[in-house]
Amino acid sequence: MKIILLGAPGAGKGSQAVKISAEYGLPHIATGDVFRANIAKGTELGKYAQTFIDKGELVPDDVVVKIVADRIKQPDCKNGFLLDGFPRTIAQAQALDQLTEIDLVINIDVRFELIVARISGRRMCECGQTYHISTYDKDTCAKCGKPLYQRKDDTEETVKNRLEVYQKQTAPLIEYYKKKGILVDVDGNRTVQATFDDIKELLK
Ligand code: AMP
Repeated sequence: MKIILLGAPGAGKGSQAVKISAEYGLPHIATGDVFRANIAKGTELGKYAQTFIDKGELVPDDVVVKIVADRIKQPDCKNGFLLDGFPRTIAQAQALDQLTEIDLVINIDVRFELIVARISGRRMCECGQTYHISTYDKDTCAKCGKPLYQRKDDTEETVKNRLEVYQKQTAPLIEYYKKKGILVDVDGNRTVQATFDDIKELLK
């Protein structure tokens, strides 16, 4: 299965991706994680991407497309993969269409007010696990023990911009994939587990 997880920032794409990936053994490809890892290592790509990420803007399409194109050619992606945070523009979706055929697009739909609350309380671990301060009050990861951190672009001003960018550039992908007949909506206004149960149902 080649799956795309679509949704606004804070919709829960990352949380669902970790669960889907564990349940079905699909490689989890998160372009945001790739950039954060490069920023942490201080690579040229990381330095370049950070100039966009810190402002809540999108990294240019050609850079992101190349990362994904290289990644999905790897042997572990032969039987499928899970894309989280890509594509984010129509141009990226068109480039992806040239590379491979996607089976399913899961659009996680969440109310605007919830998104803001989720992002401001979000805490991350390097291993990909994410937490929310309302349900987890420790400062280290339950899975790997590493210290949790708050994303620099999860601040109020940057979040506002990211949501505007989502509306303008990413939301049109819903129509794009609907027209192809491969999009399903999932109600993401509930707990991570309730949303995941729905996703499991539809993947059956
Ligand atoms: P995420 O972790 O998916 O929220 O991504 C964090 C940031 O990385 C985004 O706000 C963008 O600046 C950048 N980014 C991640 N994925 C993409 C993409 N597909 N296209 C452009 N920029 C991206």
